[in-house]
Amino acid sequence: MTTTPDTTADEEPWAAMRDASWYARPNVHTAKVIHVSGRPAREGILSRCGRSVLNRDLTWTLEDAPEHARCRSNGCRQAWPAATAPAGGGDPR
Ligand SMILES: [Zn+2]
Repeated sequence: MTTTPDTTADEEPWAAMRDASWYARPNVHTAKVIHVSGRPAREGILSRCGRSVLNRDLTWTLEDAPEHARCRSNGCRQAWPAATAPAGGGDPR
């Protein structure tokens, strides 16, 4: 028998932009920022930096999110995979 809890509560984090439908006139001139998914809120999914509700219609994996567009606010920043991390294999030579 299996005792593994079959729940999706702990899903992988994903990345998305802010839901611009909140704004009457979305600003299309400034660079878009991609945030990391955080906890659910009444309005949707909050970003980890707590500043935005994310648009789930267009998401990235954390690895695929363009680096120049990644949110650097506290919370999101720590969640991005380190781009300069050594390709870990633990294979000393
Ligand atoms: Zn953020």
